Amino acid sequence: MRIIDPCFEVLDEDFRQGRLAEQIERCGRVCYKSEDRISPDSAEPFIKGIIKRGHESVLEMAQIVLELAVDSESSMYRFFERIPRFCQVDRLEDRRYLLSGNPRAFRDLARGHSDLKIVKAISGLLAERYPVLFSDLVPSSGWLPQEGLMVRLLTPEEIMQLPLERLIRHRTLLVHLTVNRAVTHELVRHRIASYLQESQRYCRYGEARFGGEVVFIRPCFFKEESREYGLWLDAMSRAEQTYLELLKTSSPQAARTVLPNSCKTEIMVHASLEEWMHILRLRTSKAADPSMREIMLALLSEFVRSFPAVFGPVRDGLGDQD
Ligand SMILES: Cc1cc2nc3c(=O)[nH]c(=O)nc-3n(C[C@H](O)[C@H](O)[C@H](O)COP(=O)(O)OP(=O)(O)OC[C@H]3O[C@@H](n4cnc5c(N)ncnc54)[C@H](O)[C@@H]3O)c2cc1C
Repeated sequence: MRIIDPCFEVLDEDFRQGRLAEQIERCGRVCYKSEDRISPDSAEPFIKGIIKRGHESVLEMAQIVLELAVDSESSMYRFFERIPRFCQVDRLEDRRYLLSGNPRAFRDLARGHSDLKIVKAISGLLAERYPVLFSDLVPSSGWLPQEGLMVRLLTPEEIMQLPLERLIRHRTLLVHLTVNRAVTHELVRHRIASYLQESQRYCRYGEARFGGEVVFIRPCFFKEESREYGLWLDAMSRAEQTYLELLKTSSPQAARTVLPNSCKTEIMVHASLEEWMHILRLRTSKAADPSMREIMLALLSEFVRSFPAVFGPVRDGLGDQD
């Protein structure tokens, strides 16, 4: 049995380098704890396998931002009637629009609405730029260039330079958190975000690659020398023993039924700055679960350093609680 403190890492490098497939693979492998299999060529087969198995939530872990220019507004009206709920659109000047979403949202658009010229133009560009994410959806006739429409991908630099009110809607941040299972359970209640978490159904903690042990998150509630901490330690030790015993004859999904809330869980959270602001306001409040609050206060400080104009006001709002 191992006891660790909760921690997090903001993963922004793949976004800055425009490496969508690599970011998606990195997130997807957290579920199976198979990060050791990442290599320069592993993203493509990994994503193909994910698509084949229909585990498309993995494809939510990256962001695409497009600029559209149309020669007539009427082509946009039909698009607005059907726009998927997981895309964001802002109207710019001169019949131009900003459209963003994750690869899964754009795949749903291509699958469900390819009768629209605008969807054909978007899907054509995405299949050309990111074949591993979109080529399986290309119809046999192809997605030919569409007249009267211009679609282009924004570069990471252009996204970073968006004005504040657009930046918070279209820019996303990916965070890798290592927390207890109660915290992940609360986090996933935030609906306008995407998640992937370590699967207790697939991970067999009795195996050598997991050190043959269960890892627990140190509770913030008890002092280490206290009687309560001793009781907690004893309960974790007994849960681990029972889990390892059950694994001798049962699958991980059966054995996990005895694992407690203190179990270490890794979770990838991918959300817009706007949703992060909402999450942080709620989860740094004094009303929040202290285990959640301790990690969210640390995350807020890190976000303030990277995006002071966005998260500074969230931090300043905390003072109101005292
Ligand atoms: C202090 C505290 C105590 C809590 N206690 C409990 C509890 O006892 N039991 C429990 O079940 N949960 C509890 N929760 C979880 C809480 O109910 C929410 O599920 C969680 O905080 C997600 O936040 P949210 O609903 O504001 O918004 P998110 O899911 O993060 O969504 C962001 C915003 O999108 C909009 N939105 C999203 N989905 C919808 C929708 N379907 N319809 C309309 N608008 C939508 C809303 O404007 C929302 O504010 C608690 C949370 C906190 C912070």
